[in-house]
Amino acid sequence: MPASVFIGLGSNLSQPIQQVLQAIDEISALPNTRLNACSSLYKTAPMGPQDQPDYINAVVHIHTSQQPLTLLETLQNIEQQHNRTRDTGRWGARTLDLDILHIEGYTSNTAELTLPHIGLQTRSFVLYPLYEISPRLSIPSLGGMEQLIEQLNEPKPAIISAK
Ligand code: ATP
Ligand code: CA
Ligand code: CA
Repeated sequence: MPASVFIGLGSNLSQPIQQVLQAIDEISALPNTRLNACSSLYKTAPMGPQDQPDYINAVVHIHTSQQPLTLLETLQNIEQQHNRTRDTGRWGARTLDLDILHIEGYTSNTAELTLPHIGLQTRSFVLYPLYEISPRLSIPSLGGMEQLIEQLNEPKPAIISAK
């Protein structure tokens, strides 16, 4: 049975809106994968180093038969195709960042793949788009979406393009 997977997308270099929209198309076109829902695009302040452009963020929900580590590798290949470099330091500017946020019914605790994603409950640019596409989602170890957003206590980022 295909897994239900939530993926966070982010970009702040080389036409970020186009980077994110194209990546959504590429994820949708993966073998044995179906796009279930796609959030609006959100404009958010950078995390970490502040001397970089704002980000465009979105979250998608897919069903896929790819195994978690295979999916991670596939997403990293897409990042590479978008010329992602790793020379800007931790949380530095990037053309494309694809994080697996959550796989329903699955957890992982290794450095290579941590699920639920380590930043899920502390990042407004993750929680708000996730809530938009899956308001009733509840993550066993963390809680329901409304509760997580309430705990975060941060304003909703600006939507720059509704889906
Ligand atoms: P953060 O993980 O805090 O959002 P980042 O996205 O900038 O930071 P990257 O440099 O893109 O970090 O990724 C570092 C490593 O994180 C990758 O090599 C990958 O193996 C690992 N990783 C662990 N869990 C996940 C996950 N759920 N989704 C994507 N990558 C993950
Ligand atoms: Ca990230
Ligand atoms: Ca990442």
